[in-house]
Amino acid sequence: MKTIQTDVLICGGGCAGIAAALSSARHGTKTLLIERAGFSGGIITTVGLPYFDGLIDKPSGRFVVKGIALELLQKLGIAKEGAKHIDDLPPAVVTKYWGSMWITNVEQFKILTDELILKHGDNLSVLYHSMACDVEVKEGRVAAVIIANKDGLTRVEAKQVVDCTGDGDIAYWAGCPTISSKPLMPLTLHFRIGNVVPVRETKDAAKKALIEAHQAGRLPNFYGPGLMFAFAKDECYVHATRVPADATNAADFTRAEIQGRKDAWTIFNEWRAKVPGFENSYYIMSGPYIGVRDTRRIVGLNVLTLEDLQKTTRHDDAIATGCWFLDIHPPEVSVDKPFTGSGFQPKPYDISYRTLVPQKISNLLVAGRCHSASSEASASSRVTATAIALGEAAGTAAALAMETKTEVGTFDGVKVREALTQQNGGPFTDL
Ligand SMILES: Cc1cc2nc3c(=O)[nH]c(=O)nc-3n(C[C@H](O)[C@H](O)[C@H](O)COP(=O)(O)OP(=O)(O)OC[C@H]3O[C@@H](n4cnc5c(N)ncnc54)[C@H](O)[C@@H]3O)c2cc1C
Repeated sequence: MKTIQTDVLICGGGCAGIAAALSSARHGTKTLLIERAGFSGGIITTVGLPYFDGLIDKPSGRFVVKGIALELLQKLGIAKEGAKHIDDLPPAVVTKYWGSMWITNVEQFKILTDELILKHGDNLSVLYHSMACDVEVKEGRVAAVIIANKDGLTRVEAKQVVDCTGDGDIAYWAGCPTISSKPLMPLTLHFRIGNVVPVRETKDAAKKALIEAHQAGRLPNFYGPGLMFAFAKDECYVHATRVPADATNAADFTRAEIQGRKDAWTIFNEWRAKVPGFENSYYIMSGPYIGVRDTRRIVGLNVLTLEDLQKTTRHDDAIATGCWFLDIHPPEVSVDKPFTGSGFQPKPYDISYRTLVPQKISNLLVAGRCHSASSEASASSRVTATAIALGEAAGTAAALAMETKTEVGTFDGVKVREALTQQNGGPFTDL
């Protein structure tokens, strides 16, 4: 099998992975990013989700994430330099009720991440259409990650590895302890409908149509009405499908993708037939992949818990700040409110470097939604802006470990925090 070598390997080019790759390369470290899709951006581009949740502390409106997340928003022309509050953003891209904001074009996000990767080409390479599919472990280290692409199988030998696959694939295959929620949150295929002329009754009628379709057996599951006009006034962006499945099981993942596609088409047809405003609508497209909220998470050197969120536990080695509410999607029908439980809204809270550090393997970090957190805490820390912040921290730590000839597993998180602060990232738990 062919072997290639790098200093830092980032597996998965999603929210966490793109930030990890950029931050590692910006430290002058030879970095390779591999991504199973033909583009980076993860949930934003593989599913078509435009939200940057976790950026804004809802009660105060202030940003708790800066660094690469904010840089991306600035480069997209959404946040001006110096923006630090929800009021600094264009009103058209925010919902104060949720403390949420979104980007206006997910295709532009693909172009932006390509440009940033190419700009750092001296240190950063990318292989798209490349899937990490196995690891070699020797003496408590990941000795190589096996990737599969059109070249066949290749061994990638890296001194430090960052797992940003969302599913903790590398950590799991390397034998690191992992957990998953019971039940898992459902998968959702996002899709878009064009030429919609929304009227006052549209949302209520859309909800009624979903309930009727479900009761008649045409739609097994949904969250509803689950529609937004985020991209254009006449374009309906729909996140109403809901498919319970385990996306780490290939057969179940395949079944979910097929079911999600069928359900999306059913929803479109129901709305076109019954909902005022949809009479002349057409189905534009669904996201390239069904979206996966919830699979494995590592059990790391520190586990972020609900109690940490409730008590806002402080950590000297905090490398990011979380702030999103407990956003737990149930695997069954829910009408109006997408989440179950209290929807507890924490105050901005610290996330420790050690939630990125798995047990047993010394040269591996895990960033993004599969970092070490309990089911409840992860329902908050899984959102996009928080994942970007975790990725930035992991990439910075991998580069620092290379500079100091140490390993990420034993690296001092306080030093990662200091480096992040110097690059305008890191935790913003306090003003
Ligand atoms: C349907 C849905 C709706 C959501 N709604 C919101 C919302 O409204 N607001 C919000 O902020 N968050 C939302 N989230 C949550 C949030 O988007 C994710 O938790 C976040 O993207 C996590 O970032 P990540 O980098 O861990 O994963 P991702 O962004 O998913 O990135 C993982 C990347 O790894 C790649 N990959 C996976 N396995 C491999 C492999 N073995 N080899 C190579 N590449 C691999 C994937 O292709 C992907 O690009 C939603 C999630 C879903 C699924």
